[in-house]
Amino acid sequence: MGMRVVVVGGGIGGLALGAGLRRRGFEVAVFDRDIDVAATGGYHITVDERAQSALRELVAPEIVQRLLASASALRLRNRDAFWDRRGRLLGRGPDLTGDSSVDVDRITLRLLLAEAVGDDLHLGRTVSDVGYGDDGAPHVLFTDGGPVSADLVVGADGAHSLVAQHLAGGPTNSPAGIIGFSGRTLHRDLSPGEQQRLGLRSGLAIGPRGAALYVGFLDPVGNAALDAPELRMSVTTGPTYIWGAMFTESAATESLRDLRDGELQFALLRRFREQGWAEHTLEVIGRADPHSVAAYRFNAASTRATELAPWPTGRITALGDAVHATPPTAGMGAGAAIRDAAALLRHLDDVADGGTTLAEAVNRFEAGMRQRGSEILTLAMRTVRLILATDTTFGAAATAVTTPILAAAVRLRH
Ligand SMILES: Cc1cc2nc3c(=O)[nH]c(=O)nc-3n(C[C@H](O)[C@H](O)[C@H](O)COP(=O)(O)OP(=O)(O)OC[C@H]3O[C@@H](n4cnc5c(N)ncnc54)[C@H](O)[C@@H]3O)c2cc1C
Repeated sequence: MGMRVVVVGGGIGGLALGAGLRRRGFEVAVFDRDIDVAATGGYHITVDERAQSALRELVAPEIVQRLLASASALRLRNRDAFWDRRGRLLGRGPDLTGDSSVDVDRITLRLLLAEAVGDDLHLGRTVSDVGYGDDGAPHVLFTDGGPVSADLVVGADGAHSLVAQHLAGGPTNSPAGIIGFSGRTLHRDLSPGEQQRLGLRSGLAIGPRGAALYVGFLDPVGNAALDAPELRMSVTTGPTYIWGAMFTESAATESLRDLRDGELQFALLRRFREQGWAEHTLEVIGRADPHSVAAYRFNAASTRATELAPWPTGRITALGDAVHATPPTAGMGAGAAIRDAAALLRHLDDVADGGTTLAEAVNRFEAGMRQRGSEILTLAMRTVRLILATDTTFGAAATAVTTPILAAAVRLRH
């Protein structure tokens, strides 16, 4: 009899795993509390080369084609820019022409993966507990029903994972000290001056006192990774900026979390103005669709591999944000969840072929995941620490003094 796997959570990692298991003939059931796959939050997800090859192992080529036809290619974007709070150019990121990463709407990615999972995805099912039955088999319980048991249970239930907390005996991550606010602004809604300054590129501005503004550019139509309009299913249909305002957490920034839409947008603008940001640099926030503006707290797991998945190997495991919750500052969280899924599938294939035991497969999978998680967390925390550092007395002075000098140095070079 084949192996039966229950996956808790049908976000990016859970659906990727479900799709792969189904394709290889495993018996799988993915449960998510959401009622509708498309009614999900989120902006865009970066899928880098490694995540793309993982996807090729997990889903049919046709799904990958549709993903690429709906994705914005980084190599078609101009180099990233770094600015100070007055909008002065401080420097440029690396040449992207050789970069095969793509940005895709989170909704589009989730829809494509859900399609690949088909009727093995069960929506509207909230898992309330996980454990082992009298027969030693792992099972999950639901808020509305009895246990479903399996040979292996995988928690892909995100940063606040019930499964990983059960395994670890407590939370697997904590607030990173930064609160993020995101929104979506159409390129055509900006003034010609800001269209020109921001350009067809992403950028990051860091000011003193723990404030930063990331402006990500995507255009799944003009910059399509695969030119096949008939396959396109992107939610974003033209040149768009997805921006992320980041502040160190404090009582003042915490109170912003209670605000919504236009009120939140207005409060964000006021906060940046108070900190001396030039008016034109705030246009991207001011001209956003108010309904797209929302708050996100950054949670982060440990950057140390040994502290990730700190539990003895068993027949219940976890992947993705459940294990290595990562702030979006490196754009690698979703990619790592997809790579986790492909790695687990490979190890389970070995079990099905009789090459190894389930315990050994899970053990090897968890070892690889610890390395992957540590790698991406280290990268993501660099930006977080930079922002946090600007919020110290020394950091504020250093940012205020050095950024104009840097800006002048950049001007001299041009
Ligand atoms: C609403 C939302 C918006 C996001 N937006 C962005 C974005 O714009 N950019 C970006 O880079 N990253 C975003 N992320 C994070 C990104 O999706 C994850 O970092 C990455 O995909 C890792 O995926 P994951 O599968 O581990 O977790 P997630 O994608 O977070 O998925 C977890 C899933 O588990 C389900 N779940 C949780 N608990 C239970 C339970 N008890 N029972 C049943 N189901 C449960 C949730 O409904 C969710 O679908 C977002 C995440 C969410 C949930």
